[in-house]
Amino acid sequence: MTETTTKIFSGPISFLKSAPKLEFLPEPTVPEIAFAGRSNVGKSSLINALVNRNNLARASNTPGRTQELNFFDVGDPAVFRIVDMPGYGYAKAPIKTVQQWRYLINDYLRGRVVLKRVFVLIDSRHGIKEVDHDIMSMLDSAAISYRIVLTKTDKIKASDLAAVETDTMAKLRKHVAAYPDLSVTSAEKRGGIEDLRAAVLEAVAS
Ligand code: GDP
Repeated sequence: MTETTTKIFSGPISFLKSAPKLEFLPEPTVPEIAFAGRSNVGKSSLINALVNRNNLARASNTPGRTQELNFFDVGDPAVFRIVDMPGYGYAKAPIKTVQQWRYLINDYLRGRVVLKRVFVLIDSRHGIKEVDHDIMSMLDSAAISYRIVLTKTDKIKASDLAAVETDTMAKLRKHVAAYPDLSVTSAEKRGGIEDLRAAVLEAVAS
């Protein structure tokens, strides 16, 4: 890990605010890096590993219910912001909730000039599913660059992981705004976290 990376991620990082609607977004003063993924993909765990804290990002108690964008300031004053996007794809979510999610996410993606990249988390045991294609298509049409991050890789065999990586890379080629590379992580075992930090900082500087 470079000195700059260490300094930024071990320095002050704090919760700024939640935005259930666009009018509650913070002023777009610094670059933003967002994290998206289906409920239970391991998003809170990964954000916490990224920033080396135990409880910065909290898992929603009721999956699919939390419909807010959560903003975290990295640095004091903030150098950039981490945005925890509401999880999607919860099977029991009412249609109205799913629609609200789409409106919030679409508006945020289309109107946010400071949004530099979205990290789309995919459970390495499942690979890219239909619900993931949905947000990837939204990102393609909003022309927001995004990077796929495989999560929970401690839970699968190396040979299965290699197959998922190949399959995911093939699917990425069909998405215009997808970054042609993957991050491979395990929040549990702290695997791939340094590379993920570097990818985040690279996106901030892009
Ligand atoms: P979120 O709903 O996407 O925020 O997911 P969470 O971070 O709350 O994780 C969902 C579940 O997966 C929890 O039980 C976590 O302990 C577990 N989990 C998250 N990341 C990992 C990982 O890297 N490895 C393993 N084995 N479990 C994980």
